[in-house]
Amino acid sequence: MTSDIDIPRQLIGGNWVQGNGVARNLLNPADGRPLREYGGASARQIEQALDAAQAAFPLWRATPAVERSRMLRKAAVLLQARRDELAPVLTLEQGKPLSEARTEWANAIEVLEWYADEGLRAYGRVIPARQANTRQLVVREPIGPVAAFAPWNFPALTPMRKIAGALAAGCSCIIKPAEETPLSTLAIAQALIDAGLPAGVLNVVFGDAPAIAQQLIESPIIRKMSFTGSTAVGKLLAAQAAALAKPATLELGGHAPVLIFADADLDRAVALAGSAKFRNSGQICVAPTRFIVHASVYDAFVERLTRFASSLRIGPGLDSATELGPLANARRIAHAEALTADARAKGARIACGGERLNRDGYYWPATVLSDVPPDTNILQEESFSPLAPCVRFNSFDEAMQIANGVPYGLATYAFTQSLGTAHRVADALEAGMVGINTCRLSLAELPFGGVKDSGYGTEGGTEGLAAYLTTKSISLAHD
Ligand code: NAD
Repeated sequence: MTSDIDIPRQLIGGNWVQGNGVARNLLNPADGRPLREYGGASARQIEQALDAAQAAFPLWRATPAVERSRMLRKAAVLLQARRDELAPVLTLEQGKPLSEARTEWANAIEVLEWYADEGLRAYGRVIPARQANTRQLVVREPIGPVAAFAPWNFPALTPMRKIAGALAAGCSCIIKPAEETPLSTLAIAQALIDAGLPAGVLNVVFGDAPAIAQQLIESPIIRKMSFTGSTAVGKLLAAQAAALAKPATLELGGHAPVLIFADADLDRAVALAGSAKFRNSGQICVAPTRFIVHASVYDAFVERLTRFASSLRIGPGLDSATELGPLANARRIAHAEALTADARAKGARIACGGERLNRDGYYWPATVLSDVPPDTNILQEESFSPLAPCVRFNSFDEAMQIANGVPYGLATYAFTQSLGTAHRVADALEAGMVGINTCRLSLAELPFGGVKDSGYGTEGGTEGLAAYLTTKSISLAHD
């Protein structure tokens, strides 16, 4: 049976089935109306998905890496051919402008291609032995069936990182996409099935998120879990995994500072950091969220950022003129409202935006807040919305203190023309990722991950494949 992504179904052991757990609605962020209704996976269906992943693992692991690679590449070709149909589906379920949805699919396909190749390079080592007639080998093996949990902000890219990494390493996988945005994950699964992926290697289940996550993590079949989403949920799931000594990769929230030094190229900084800030309406864990600007260029920077923010055309993602789509759900509007009200009450100036648009759907304009006092909530809490707070600094140490003074440590950015400042900043920032004069950090070949409350472990790059491999040493003596 093939998936009809108009009817969100569960993929269990190679079959597309209606979920017979709790019923749920998908909402269209562009107008707030229901898009589709579906049944979530029941506990019995999760059991079946676990059995399928367990049965498929030895077969997939034994499939030569080169054959696995060919299959993943074939799925990438299929997705590329389907990109024009899939981009509007992503926009419908998540809200982002169509051009961004197309780019997200392009990036997701690139991740699949990259892992298809990287899976060929799960190399081991030969270690010089202490005795004659002895071989000491180190081999990398797939860790086993993986449970993966993806959020709603990148419905194609984030599931793809987990699926492609696990499958390229030789693991079977059960993925739970966000209940708000399952359709793009189903499209990935369909392409893999069409490319010849054996039944049960990839299973897709969604419905009652906390119950499904707990059942998967606590099952002895699951050997590794990977989660992207909020810090609160990530810590909860990591605790469940830790109680059973299961490894986890956690990619959680961020609160990315953008340091604008006195010698920065301001036009470049506004063009790059401004677009990175407002892409996907700010609902990106690596989006710039705090502009920390040297006092000598503060007014000029805020003025240019405000001009940039005010110029963005807001509207439904399917409208080709739209540059800023709706937020993905009502929770995000409520949070943006609360953070703005707090900043206003504490004396911040709203340079542009600042209020929900009076229309159906979840529209919040690009908002620049200046002169934001240090005790405002937005300087500590991740906003995950198009809010751009700006603060001043006078010295390098003060800038670092502000930048590192949050519980998060995911992405960080700086703009400077001084090589010395660039090196000092890169050394001093507490983060998994640093961008200097660039905001491009999320590339298939680069490690992606954070420190502190932003989580641990890495997706992307060589480390991304290693996350699904274990190390075995083999010492072999012979006559
Ligand atoms: P939330 O914590 O309410 O979670 C909602 C989503 O997480 C749902 O899609 C659901 O599937 C899943 N979820 C919730 N409880 C779960 C559980 N116990 N087990 C497994 N999955 C569970 O978050 P939200 O309101 O969607 O977003 C809140 C914050 O999360 C945002 O402000 C942002 O900081 C962060 N976030 C981060 C990322 C990221 O890429 N790191 C993505 C999305 C959200």
